[in-house]
Amino acid sequence: MVAKRLSGVPASGTVALSNLVSHMKLQGIDVVSFSMGEPDFVTPHNVIEACKESLDAGFTHYTPSLGIPELRKAVASKAFSDNKIHCTAKNVLITPSKHAIYMSAVAFLDPGDEVILPDPSWVSYEADIKLARAKPKYIPTKFDDNFIINPDLIAEAITPKTKMILLNSPSNPTGSVMPCETVRAIAQIAKENNLMVLSDEIYESIIYEGKHHSIAAVHDMFDRTITISGLSKTYAMTGWRLGWAIASEANIKALDILQTHTISCCTSFAQKAAVAAITGPQDERDAMVSEFKKRRDLAVDLMREIKGIEVNVPKGAFYLFPKYNSKVKSEILCTKMLEEAHVAATPGSAFGPSGEGFFRVSYATGEEQIREGLSRIKKFMLNL
Ligand code: GLU
Repeated sequence: MVAKRLSGVPASGTVALSNLVSHMKLQGIDVVSFSMGEPDFVTPHNVIEACKESLDAGFTHYTPSLGIPELRKAVASKAFSDNKIHCTAKNVLITPSKHAIYMSAVAFLDPGDEVILPDPSWVSYEADIKLARAKPKYIPTKFDDNFIINPDLIAEAITPKTKMILLNSPSNPTGSVMPCETVRAIAQIAKENNLMVLSDEIYESIIYEGKHHSIAAVHDMFDRTITISGLSKTYAMTGWRLGWAIASEANIKALDILQTHTISCCTSFAQKAAVAAITGPQDERDAMVSEFKKRRDLAVDLMREIKGIEVNVPKGAFYLFPKYNSKVKSEILCTKMLEEAHVAATPGSAFGPSGEGFFRVSYATGEEQIREGLSRIKKFMLNL
């Protein structure tokens, strides 16, 4: 009974693993979870207060499908000041970031179109491209290059069917941050070949070294780029399901058609809270990023003590993507690690063919969990 478009599209590896971990914990198993990319902090208190106030004021109904005007304006100002993207509220659609990616695939890809994307990259890109009946075309990235995509390989992969380049910096799962010259080179390729760019910048605020560069800020790139970001990672707001897409007015209209037929609008009181998140004090956000940096350094140090594992120092996001020295497939390795050591990590192969031989560890969890989990991985690897 299931439609053909779902064939070859498995459930999200990250979400499925997280569901399994929840189930194991309910059974009383002491699992250390490095699975989901989810900050363990509480949402900043001013955001929670703003949400409560809007509930008390009865702000509990539909909003305009594009989002409440003050939030669209706040996102546009933030994009202008932080990302140097020249846009106004008219260029903003408020929507959950993950939904924005899916809607972008459906709104801008025709069957048979090709989308160039880095390999490895986040599990849902390939799925969303396939659900739009388009084709993912992976560009391998290497451990030795810190997983930075090589623009020459993008240029070589272009065919008459190529419609879009999908980028994600800082990257999930590798934590790599694209340098300015790479962003510029890719922009040039997109312009020369009349391609769209879908730029997922959800980890834009979680950068420890270097700077974030939005491709939509490069000259003449705005009209061909959909920039996606949101609140989940930056403000520990994963449960609020709120983000945005920034694009030309014409492209926002196309996305809004889908929004009106799918979710209608985002949760009203969550949108009010989002205004507080973006325009309010940023000290809790900054403290979270400093804490992530400490955890990254700790996790890298502990990981490097493990025989048979190599890891580089990611400049952003909150993932390590270690390489292990064994012929065992990453899916089997992670299953055994979960069953025997009670540590949940995502197999590298879930992120694309170049992810084989790696696994992903989300260190958006407490220091104690990092110490305990890595000590278990150490013992597990000795017995592998
Ligand atoms: N993006 C996060 C992750 O990769 C959250 C789960 C998901 O939506 O995939 O773990």
